[in-house]
Amino acid sequence: MARIVQKYGGTSVGSVEKIENVADRVTRAAEAGSELIVVVSAMGKSTDQLVGLANDITEHPSKREMDMLLSTGEQVTISLLTMALLKRGVEAVSYTGGQAGILTEATHGNARIKEIDSERLTNQLEAGKVLVVAGFQGVTEDGSITTLGRGGSDTTAVALAAAVGADRCEIYTDVTGVFTTDPRYVKKARKLQAVSYDEMLEMANLGAGVLHPRAVEFAKNYEVPLMVASSMVEETGTMIEEEVTVEKNLIVRGIAFENDVTKVTVAGLPNRMDTLPKLFSILSSNGVNVDIIIQNQYDEDHVNISFSITQCSLKETVACLEQAKNELEFEHLYHEEDLAKVSIVGSGMISNPGVAATMFEALAKNEIFIKMVSTSEIKVSAVVSEDDMVMAVEVLHDAFKLDEVHEEQAAQLV
Ligand code: ASP
Ligand code: MG
Repeated sequence: MARIVQKYGGTSVGSVEKIENVADRVTRAAEAGSELIVVVSAMGKSTDQLVGLANDITEHPSKREMDMLLSTGEQVTISLLTMALLKRGVEAVSYTGGQAGILTEATHGNARIKEIDSERLTNQLEAGKVLVVAGFQGVTEDGSITTLGRGGSDTTAVALAAAVGADRCEIYTDVTGVFTTDPRYVKKARKLQAVSYDEMLEMANLGAGVLHPRAVEFAKNYEVPLMVASSMVEETGTMIEEEVTVEKNLIVRGIAFENDVTKVTVAGLPNRMDTLPKLFSILSSNGVNVDIIIQNQYDEDHVNISFSITQCSLKETVACLEQAKNELEFEHLYHEEDLAKVSIVGSGMISNPGVAATMFEALAKNEIFIKMVSTSEIKVSAVVSEDDMVMAVEVLHDAFKLDEVHEEQAAQLV
């Protein structure tokens, strides 16, 4: 008997009708004989609304109370879905994260799962119950409710799948799978049959919103086969697994992009051993998250250091650097806003030289100026002007022929 964890996101349970639709789908899976855990998000935009309520009371809500508040969103969904299942004659029972045995660290608002005591869940599964579990939440050792960070219900689903040894984890959402790039921006975007954990992890971290990065990390570490599919249309989704056998010859599998990137340049820093550690410890102690870093020496005694941050941390960054101007001994501070990061991702890059060259040529041919570059084994990111972002993605989508299905060639290779 297959043991399956299904997860339905906020849009998929956004109204009573949609909850009834989910109940139909769960009923069918239960009738087909699977053991089922169903993880759900809060209905529609209700988490945002709860955040709004807190902000109406205070600008700085207590983190503990915030978790207490936000966790109620998912509780609404688990009880309603369970009622809908009971109405259909399915033996279902709902659990909060804590009741499901999800133990987390005490970091309110962004807690990591430490451990899952799955005994209750496995007993109930073996007794033939369908378990409906609230996503995005857990409890600390002393019983305080925590949440796992926005979008964290994916992580709950994958973590439970690992804990109960599920055969697979199915993430149902408002898109039909993982695409070569965001179909809302690029018409030619194509749904992929499969991607590897590492590729998905890069794409999720680079801003492809389909899956929470921590969920992918969990799936990779515990080798949980993941599937992403639509909760509305009956269509095969995308598999995320270790070995991707379909379209093996796709060197670049996807293009991720995000805007709101800002480039900061600290110019005229002393060319000394302690410059880099000083600069970046000031940034980190002020909570500034830095992405790409570039250093260049322009004369014997001086270097310029540029780095990228998200637009929202610009104020903080400028303030803390200006304050440390004497300590750091720099001459000027510049920044450039309204930039975007466009990244090509694919495990095939490791063994194929020339991928970056193709990328740069394609962008240059279309007069898209690259302001910063960073690479890893399986990705190349370029920072460009925000106005060029969508064009850059389209150009690269064409350059790497991502709209073509590479199945036949893949079949010939094996
Ligand atoms: N309801 C939470 C959020 O909106 C968690 C989730 O949906 O995954 O972020
Ligand atoms: Mg989500």
